[in-house]
Order: sequence, then structure tokens, then C-alpha cells
Amino acid sequence: THFGFEQVALDEKQGRVDDVFRSVAKRYDLMNDLMSGGLHRAWKSHLISMLRPPRNRPFHHLDVAGGTADIAFRCLEAGGPETHVTVLDINESMLRVGAERAGHRYDGRIDFVTANAESLPLPNEAFDAYTIAFGIRNVPRIDLALAEARRVLKPGGRFLCLEFSKVDLPVLDRIYDAYSFHVIPRLGASVAGDADSYRYLVESIRKFPTPGRFAGMIEDAGFKHVTHRPLSGGIVAIHSGWKI
Ligand code: SAM
Repeated sequence: THFGFEQVALDEKQGRVDDVFRSVAKRYDLMNDLMSGGLHRAWKSHLISMLRPPRNRPFHHLDVAGGTADIAFRCLEAGGPETHVTVLDINESMLRVGAERAGHRYDGRIDFVTANAESLPLPNEAFDAYTIAFGIRNVPRIDLALAEARRVLKPGGRFLCLEFSKVDLPVLDRIYDAYSFHVIPRLGASVAGDADSYRYLVESIRKFPTPGRFAGMIEDAGFKHVTHRPLSGGIVAIHSGWKI
């Protein structure tokens, strides 16, 4: 059936994504710094400055596709003693690196869950915030992930997504293209020993919907006051929405 065919394609996509991150987990943080020239740190900090975890009351934050826990650490640093982060990722290798990095620094304030963004093993209305950074692009059925995001958020909860976007400045777009197609796969080959994985990542960025269309998908999932803003000339964008 048509559904069967589609299911195979979706499973293949997820399988491919899993291979990529299993193969790069150990080198992932180094690669991020090298590939973005350290910019990913500023983008992640920007996300947390929009989230503004409160310092004086409980705050339950779910970071999906949390990988090596970069977003979680920043939220825990910015928040207070009652800030708690659940880091969820489909890939255990990535989470293991995250848990190692955390050590015992945040015991009792962080936990790690291996699961798919498309079906969260988490109760309804449990979180004050849901973030996903450089993750949604890898999820085969984005609409399912968005529906799950809304389900697990409390009324009044915040959705924030940091993702690669569309560079819309002349010149910068050319530089960005050359960089993506030539530099990134080479970096992937020499540092992570895996050019194909990084070629795949570049392709997945191109295929991702435009910021306007993605905002529409977030609205379709039932979020309100949906906004998006480009950072660094549109290399990345942050989409925001509220569960009202
Ligand atoms: N958020 C982290 C960061 O910004 O450094 C990690 C981003 S990394 C580019 C993408 C992550 O998405 C990987 O850790 C991968 O395992 C995870 N991922 C891919 N598909 C997923 C899915 N369907 N559900 C949950 N996580 C997924």
C-alpha cells in the first residue's frame, strides 16, 4: 500500500539519522565548534535568553533531540535550584556523552530519556518549556513531533526551536553554499572520519521548510503567537510558540 511504502521511507530516514549520530557522538562537540566557528554557542545562548528560566520557582524543561546536553547545561546554569531538565534523544550514544559531560554537577536536576520525538513516553501537561535545537530537521514526521510537543506542555508553556534556516543575504548565501558543500564534508572526513554523514546533514538543511512555512506548521499543531527570528543572517532561526 501507499502507506506501507511511505513507512519504509520514513524508517529509512530515521535509520540514516541514527547511523549519523552514532558514528559522530564522540566527536560531536568538537565538530560543532569547528563547523560553526564557535557560533553554535552564541545561538544556543540566545535560545536560553528567550527561554529565561525563572530562578525562584520550579521550572520543568524538556529538551528534545538534546544530544550531548548543551541546551540543558545552559538552562541549568541560567535557572534556579528548582530548574529541572529532561534531555531526550533517540540516540543513546549521544546521551551517554551528555551524561559523562554532566558528571555529578547537576544530580537531581537533570535526567536522560532515550525516545523518539514523534512519540514521547511522557505524561500530558508536564513541562513549562519544550526546546529542540538542531533536531527537528532530523525527525521524519515533523507534524507528529509538534503534536507531541504541545501535548506534554502545560497550558501557558513555551515551545522554542533552534534550527538551520535560509540565508537571505546576497554574498553570504554564496559563501554559505560553498562552505556547506566543500568545507563541511571535508571537515567531517578529517575530524570525524565520516564525510557522508556530514554530506547528509548539509542536504537535510536544504530540504527543511522555509521559516514561514515552518511557522505555519507550528500553528497547525495548535500553538499560538507563533513568531520566528533569523540569527546570523538567517544561517539559523528561532521559532517560538505558546500553548494557550
Ligand atoms: N540539541 C543538540 C545540540 O544542539 O547540540 C544536538 C543536536 S544534533 C544535530 C541532532 C540530534 O537529534 C541527535 O542527537 C539525534 O540523535 C537526535 N534525533 C534525531 N532524530 C530524532 C528523533 N526522531 N527523536 C529524538 N531525537 C532525534
